[in-house]
Amino acid sequence: MNEVFDPVQAFAESRSRRVRQFRIMFSIFFLLVAVGYAQSVGVLPGKYMDIEYAYIAAAILTLGGLAYTLSQWRCPGCRKLLWHRLNPKHCPGCGIELTK
Ligand SMILES: [Zn+2]
Repeated sequence: MNEVFDPVQAFAESRSRRVRQFRIMFSIFFLLVAVGYAQSVGVLPGKYMDIEYAYIAAAILTLGGLAYTLSQWRCPGCRKLLWHRLNPKHCPGCGIELTK
């Protein structure tokens, strides 16, 4: 196989990785909040965790995950951070095309 480096392809792949990371992050976040809520309204018998801790853990997880995800949001060509652009057409650093 003779693979040529394709920034559009590389960018699309890293984008789908990030979407997966977001999904996992939000599932955990949702689970924590759901368990905390179910417990607070008495749906779940017993006490699995302190609700305050569940919400703090959910907040830390979300912020941490978001920070990590944003730190990985880079141009595949020059590694410049693209955190301020959700869907950049061209890299502001090296100018290569990122989306078609
Ligand atoms: Zn670049």
